[in-house]
Amino acid sequence: MGRVTDRVCLVTGAARGIGRAIGEALLAEGAKVCFADIDEIGAAAVADKNRARYGDKVTSAAVDVTNRAQVRAMIEHTVQTFGRLDVKFNNAGVNKPMNFMDVDEANWNFIMGVNGLGCMIGMQEAARQMIAQGRTQDGMAGKIINTASIASRQGYDNVAPYCASKFAVVSLTQSGARDLAKHGITVTGFAPGVVQTEMWEQVDQDLMEIGASERPGQAMQEFSASILKGRVASPPDITGTTTFLASKDSDYMTGQIVMIDGGMELV
Ligand code: NAD
Repeated sequence: MGRVTDRVCLVTGAARGIGRAIGEALLAEGAKVCFADIDEIGAAAVADKNRARYGDKVTSAAVDVTNRAQVRAMIEHTVQTFGRLDVKFNNAGVNKPMNFMDVDEANWNFIMGVNGLGCMIGMQEAARQMIAQGRTQDGMAGKIINTASIASRQGYDNVAPYCASKFAVVSLTQSGARDLAKHGITVTGFAPGVVQTEMWEQVDQDLMEIGASERPGQAMQEFSASILKGRVASPPDITGTTTFLASKDSDYMTGQIVMIDGGMELV
């Protein structure tokens, strides 16, 4: 028996990177998973690949997490496919480094839109479904799990809107936990440090373009010099914890963010 056998889980930002790994780890422990992403083709390809092994426990959906109607449609699709929604991961996220003094409204709105507003809409619409379906025998109606970051613990200079957006994820987790407890819904989050994904490859390139680093890999190297574990993470380093947060083992946790950063920020 896996830790999440037959739990219905929905993961956004699941066409690649951390989101994909979260979904695949859930499948490996028995869950039914909807892989959702703005990259519809990428999400469908991940679902197809996993369908070969997990059959009808896999589906996918197209969603822009900033669009409430699309978020509702994604949840409806998941419920129509699997019958209910037990666990919702609000994981889709973006970054676009800019020097602090150059940050403009477009940069702020883009990042805050996806990471902040997208998280809030995702929480609200998942909670609406969980409230409607009601509690199971164990008193739980569902779990909402948000992706924060080490950038939700420190403000770094070249990624100010990203840090603000991830601080927002922490406070949304706290606000949601307080409001939704009465419905049997827990809200938690996890905070990765430096994870080797396409997002980081892009960040590395962007930092060179704005003159904040000189050579490929420099930013990641400097950022991660303080990791107690002595290396950056890869997505599988994250998923032991995310499956725990999706499982019954974490039922008594709510309002908390779990750091998974190899020991970068000891807060
Ligand atoms: P990634 O860029 O590899 O994947 C992000 C996914 O989100 C992509 O598939 C993208 O298409 C999707 N996405 C972007 N905008 C979307 C939108 N509006 N609606 C739906 N989907 C959208 O990034 P990743 O490294 O896997 O990051 C996943 C999450 O983890 C993000 O929230 C990120 O901020 C967070 N995070 C990453 C790191 C890291 O080092 N990689 C560290 C801390 C936190």
